[in-house]
Amino acid sequence: MNLDEHHRDVLVIGGGLAGMEAALEASRLGARVIIASEQKVGRSGNSVIAEGGYAAPFGHGDPRDNPGIFYEDILRSGQFLNDRTLARTLADGSCRAVEELCGAGVPFRMEGERYAQKHYPGHTYPRNCYLVREGGIHITLPLLEHLRRRSIRLLAHSYALRLLVAGGECCGALFIATRSGSIFAVRARATILACGGAAAIYLHSTNVRGATGDGYVLALEAGAALRDMEFVQFYPTIMLAPVRNFLMDFSCFGRRAPLLNRLGERFLERYAPAALEACTRDVKSRTIFTEVREGRGVKGGVVMDVSALPREELETYTPRFCRLFARRNLDPHRERIVVAPAAHFFMGGVAIDEGCRTGVPGLFSCGEVTGGVHGANRLADNALSECQVFGRLAGEHGARYALGRPLQHETAPAWEPSGGRSAGLPPFPRWMARLREIMWEKVGIERDRGGLEEAISGLERLREEVDESVAGVTGPSLYRVTKVRNAVVTGLMVAKAALARRESRGAHFRSDFPEQDSSFSRSIMVEGDGRGGLKARLSGG
Ligand SMILES: Cc1cc2nc3c(=O)[nH]c(=O)nc-3n(C[C@H](O)[C@H](O)[C@H](O)COP(=O)(O)OP(=O)(O)OC[C@H]3O[C@@H](n4cnc5c(N)ncnc54)[C@H](O)[C@@H]3O)c2cc1C
Repeated sequence: MNLDEHHRDVLVIGGGLAGMEAALEASRLGARVIIASEQKVGRSGNSVIAEGGYAAPFGHGDPRDNPGIFYEDILRSGQFLNDRTLARTLADGSCRAVEELCGAGVPFRMEGERYAQKHYPGHTYPRNCYLVREGGIHITLPLLEHLRRRSIRLLAHSYALRLLVAGGECCGALFIATRSGSIFAVRARATILACGGAAAIYLHSTNVRGATGDGYVLALEAGAALRDMEFVQFYPTIMLAPVRNFLMDFSCFGRRAPLLNRLGERFLERYAPAALEACTRDVKSRTIFTEVREGRGVKGGVVMDVSALPREELETYTPRFCRLFARRNLDPHRERIVVAPAAHFFMGGVAIDEGCRTGVPGLFSCGEVTGGVHGANRLADNALSECQVFGRLAGEHGARYALGRPLQHETAPAWEPSGGRSAGLPPFPRWMARLREIMWEKVGIERDRGGLEEAISGLERLREEVDESVAGVTGPSLYRVTKVRNAVVTGLMVAKAALARRESRGAHFRSDFPEQDSSFSRSIMVEGDGRGGLKARLSGG
């Protein structure tokens, strides 16, 4: 079948912050760049709904801070499973990233000439820079202006179905236009994968609905390896009442916003007596989950008492929360605020080196879709810093690889549509609901062997059902079926990696192996098994 084709030096897949930064850098180096994104570039992905905090050790919050201490914090939080070089790169590069964003017009809060910096659990010093007005859209829109000024081609509503690989080298991707259902190819000398994470495969999630793991499957099917997929971060305090689904970013207040169970007990005194509410996200999520499961919850969560926080402080550090309450005539000091955990961030992902190379020649990757920077757990505000630091590196190395190389052509036909299907629309919502239920119940905050095995067989059955539909579907339905299929395969990657890690570490808790075990101080790698399936194994020495 003859396809429409675009030709560029560098193709970036994904229009969130990592992809935008990669595209800008590749263009600065002289590459002709195209960004293709399932939704609008700069207006999609988790980047747009992020709070907008960046961890960067300027030492403005405390003069003792520096990149070396930041690096140690990253490793400690990641339970030493991080790739050291990647963690070091983040620690060393995050100040420059914030300064460049500031120069690009992103409105960080300043105190005179210095960045205002909040203090979050797990960071030794206050080092979290934040925006004058919360919201990732205040970062993406100025960058979008820069993309336009550089004449970078932006393709919205373009969903990558698979990567094109010729002679083991990645040479672009095959897309479907999500609205018309037409198929087209983008051929490129270098391809940068920046498709974001997958926490929306869980029933309760902070993520945009589309964050269901396409990038993991695209990389896997092109021959790349994935690492640390069992480490899913659950954000501990999503508001259930009086307003649903609002992310309560209150950990900068440390112990001054106590969490209480149904009996009015400050339950963290039992689990984390020294840190209390200043404990890290993994500990807090697990303890809230335990309180609710053991019958001491309130409406499915626990109470966050913010009554001791002065209004001026709330206005300064949590303006979005204050605006939400003001719009509804709610008083933060009088309302009973109920919070519970939800899936938030994937620490794991495509394995990369310090040049964002994936091991498949011509394929680079950056942002949440990659693994290795954060190890077993991520510190607050390290994800956006990661997008900038590694986005730039992916753009740089992608452009250097591309410039001066011939354009490869995949020898096999790019696309062979299969015969039409008459059985009507596949049941997308039912499939997604089943996946999300399985992930939440069996592959969630607390896991064990029995539950994981049940999850794997349930997900494999679901995959078979979806695969049968993929075989016959064309047009816009092909987009939706592929989306569901990728989400299920991503769920399988998490479940298989979680089963293989027979210990508890960071965000991964196994009730049948509650202790950390030094024989698991290595990553679980997920790869294709050559027969269309997946295998998860402990990496070598
Ligand atoms: C509510 C919330 C608040 C957060 N706040 C912070 C914070 O303050 N600080 C911090 O450090 N981190 C925060 N995070 C985490 C951070 O926002 C994300 O990790 C980060 O934005 C990921 O950026 P990304 O560019 O890798 O992916 P995304 O921003 O998710 O972008 C992914 C892009 O890929 C596209 N895409 C996906 N699949 C395909 C496909 N098959 N074909 C083509 N395109 C595709 C999407 O349309 C999108 O454009 C927050 C997360 C959430 C959910």
